[in-house]
Amino acid sequence: LKRDPKYAQLTEEHVKYFKELLSSESACIDGVTKDASEDIEPFNSDWMRKFRGHTQLVLKPSNKEELSKILKYCNDNMIAVVPQGGNSGLVGGSVPVFDEIVINLQKMNKIRSFDEVSGILVADAGVILENADNYLAERNHIFPLDLGAKGSCQIGGNVATNAGGLRLLRYGSLHGNVLGIEAVLPDGTIVNDLCTLRKNNTGYDLKQLFIGAEGTIGIITAVSIQCAARSQAVNVAYFGLESFEKVQEAYRTAKGQLAEILSAFELMDGRTQKLVNKVTGKKMPLEGEYPFYCLVETSGSNTDHDAEKLQAFLEHVMETEIVLDGTLADNQTQIQELWSWREGITEVLGHEGGVYKYDLSIPISELYDIVNDTRDRLTEAGLVGDGPDYPVVDVVGYGHMGDANLHLNIPTRRFDKAVEKKLEPFVYEWVQKRNGSISAEHGLGVTKKPYVSYSKNETMMKLMKQIKDLYDPKGIMNPYKYI
Ligand code: FAD
Repeated sequence: LKRDPKYAQLTEEHVKYFKELLSSESACIDGVTKDASEDIEPFNSDWMRKFRGHTQLVLKPSNKEELSKILKYCNDNMIAVVPQGGNSGLVGGSVPVFDEIVINLQKMNKIRSFDEVSGILVADAGVILENADNYLAERNHIFPLDLGAKGSCQIGGNVATNAGGLRLLRYGSLHGNVLGIEAVLPDGTIVNDLCTLRKNNTGYDLKQLFIGAEGTIGIITAVSIQCAARSQAVNVAYFGLESFEKVQEAYRTAKGQLAEILSAFELMDGRTQKLVNKVTGKKMPLEGEYPFYCLVETSGSNTDHDAEKLQAFLEHVMETEIVLDGTLADNQTQIQELWSWREGITEVLGHEGGVYKYDLSIPISELYDIVNDTRDRLTEAGLVGDGPDYPVVDVVGYGHMGDANLHLNIPTRRFDKAVEKKLEPFVYEWVQKRNGSISAEHGLGVTKKPYVSYSKNETMMKLMKQIKDLYDPKGIMNPYKYI
């Protein structure tokens, strides 16, 4: 990949314009005039430390008007930009590839309004997900999305990636929950579609295009979102199972017996749990070791009623040997402790070096097969083992069982071309054969750019390109990424 010469090189004159435009000094970090007030590096490097850009300028506008002027100037002067939220994305979409300037939304972080009757929240794009959820908790509501990076990701970034997370099973996708969007287009136009209506059938639903566009057609500055009432009673069960067939049986039974109170059903293989145990030093939640573990969460309105249901469910799955062992948590500390065995996985995988990550949607009956097939393939090639001679530490799988979304992860001691060759396009071909998706919830970013055609046909690719050209005719928005 080469830098496209159509984009301008950043000059001192450009930097001078932005400095004069932005209201506070800390809103502009600049490596061009060499008086950087803050380190520019964290904005150039992604969460996995896999991708590194070379921006010399980071801009943090405080409001949509400032952002509009920034984008108009960039568009007029052919300066390429990368929108950035919490920079927790896992596909290299939030950092520059070359010297594109970074526009970070962290200063646009206000809650604008919340209606306690309808449950509709309107907030700036730069609000951190956890802050939004804490705000809602004080008002007995819940943000309809939860994920391991909640302490750093921003709701604008969540919407831009159409993040799925831990409770999609219960609250559905952002395509359904986001009611309105405010965004700035590359030419500076402010799009005000911050609708707070549940129903609004007035022609094309244009906001949907921004959901999951990964910053390629404009920058989201605010969202309105439907939030549910917070459940009074939350219970979590964690159990060990002997096979993936049993995991499927457990899921089917949970849907039947827990029905309306089921709020999460997560899958972790034994290898991920051993890794969490090894890296954190925490005692495993169950005495024995099992090839598979599941975490089931219920959220309802009546503590006794929910506990009774969950107890009956657990007794049933234990008696029928669907589950081999299990434990139950009903207070906040225990609940968080059990969740940490699921949420902590992403972090511990990188402990020995890098991680090859695949975020896949696969028909549920075959969900785990790809982990075994990939492990066999890398083992046969002599790439997996203990000790520094082997690049691959292990091949593991975990994910959102209830959404048929598997995270196939290959933790390594170092990124290695021989491993890459064995993995790609093998993984994508495997998924394509089963009509799956090569990106269930993380997006495409730069990682999956060469592989989009495994999940989208030619007609759809053509339509996507036409939309991109319509919104961003000069191509300044997040270039070199998937489109
Ligand atoms: P960034 O990483 O900053 O950006 C992501 C993309 O969105 C980039 O392409 C960027 O250009 C664009 N973008 C950001 N802000 C805007 C904006 N305001 N307007 C337009 N474009 C914008 N994802 C899931 O779906 N489910 C999970 O369960 C999940 N778990 C995770 C756990 C961990 C520990 C980590 C590190 C990540 C996880 N993710 C998960 C990845 C997920 O995509 C991100 O955490 C999150 O949605 C991205 O938000 P962000 O603010 O960090 O965006």
